[in-house]
Parts: sequence; C-alpha cells; structure tokens
Amino acid sequence: MPPPRAFLFDLDRTLVDLQSFTDYAAALRDLTALVGDQPGATVPDADWDAPTVSTMAILVALSDDPRWHEASAAVSVHERAAIPQSQPMPGLGDAVEACAGRPYAVVTLLPSDVARDVLDAHGFPVDVIIGRDPRIRAKPFGDGLVEAAERLGVPVTECVMIGDSSWDHAAAVDAGAGFIGVPVSATAFPSDVPVARHLVEAIERAP
Ligand SMILES: [Mg+2]
Repeated sequence: MPPPRAFLFDLDRTLVDLQSFTDYAAALRDLTALVGDQPGATVPDADWDAPTVSTMAILVALSDDPRWHEASAAVSVHERAAIPQSQPMPGLGDAVEACAGRPYAVVTLLPSDVARDVLDAHGFPVDVIIGRDPRIRAKPFGDGLVEAAERLGVPVTECVMIGDSSWDHAAAVDAGAGFIGVPVSATAFPSDVPVARHLVEAIERAP
C-alpha cells in the first residue's frame, strides 16, 4: 500500500476519552424509557462496558426509525455532560504535526455537535466530522468513512482509519480503508490487526 493520503480518526478513546466519563447506564435507561424494549442491531463485540454496547447497538437499530432523533438526543445529554471530565488520549497534542500536512477527518458514533465541542475543549482542530446521523449508516458499517473521504477529496482506499475499537476496524474493512488500532485493552483486537501504542505512533506507522 502506498503512504496514506489522508487519515480518518475515531474520536472516543482514540483522540479524547469521553466514553469513560459518560454515564451510558443512565443513557441506556433514558433510551429504553423512550423507545421501549428495542432490540439492538447485530454488532461486533467491543471492549466497552455492556450499557455502552447496548446503547450504540440500539441507536444503530433505530437508524430508519422516526424516533431516532429523540433517542439520539436522550443519549447525547449524557455524552455532553462528560465533556468537562474528558481526557486527551496520549499523543493528541502532536497528532496534527504527525499528519505532516495530510488531511484528516473524524468519524465518530458521537453526535457531530458533541464531537466538535469535545475536540474544541482539547484544542484539536478539525474541519470534517462525520457524527451520529441517521442518513449515514454508523460504524461498524463503512459508510461514514466513505463520506469523510469524499469530503476530503481522497479515495477511501487511500485513507487509513485509526481507532481503538473493533467497530472502527470493521468499518475500515467495510469501506476498503487501511486500519491501525490504538487499543486501550489487550482484548480490543484479534492478533492479526496492526496496532500502535498511541496516536502518533499509529500515524507514523501508517504505510
Ligand atoms: Mg472509540
């Protein structure tokens, strides 16, 4: 593979850790109160706690449902509340320089407005954010990566996705992008998935 022409970053636990400070158990309770016993979509295992996986799987399942906006808003209250506690992931401050002028985008399961505010809070500049949006199938589908690459004007096959979770990897495979993991646990990825110790190493390791 030639050197990537652009990078696609996951946000949560890749650029900034918001997830660890988000009360997804409360979000799931609010979501369930709103939509009832909605089965979640079939999604990959992830090294997230059970309420986080369930919340995201239900939102994926609701993508064609008119209640999606209300459901997403109920969850985003809890995500937004965690912004003051959120922590930068190692290497965030050097990530832009490591990209060496190549464009990048953020593809996240968070709503775009929450994503923008949390990245602003950590001083990470970004033009293109593809957030939670019922018109774009969420990770683990690759649609958000394809959309991000289009907005950057780079073929998605010439992009490398960097993310902490199996959903990011699945989305990269689905989109035809490259992938490098920045795992936060030993069980994040099967052993055949390339990983780096932190964000800057991932960017520099990209072929
Ligand atoms: Mg993540």
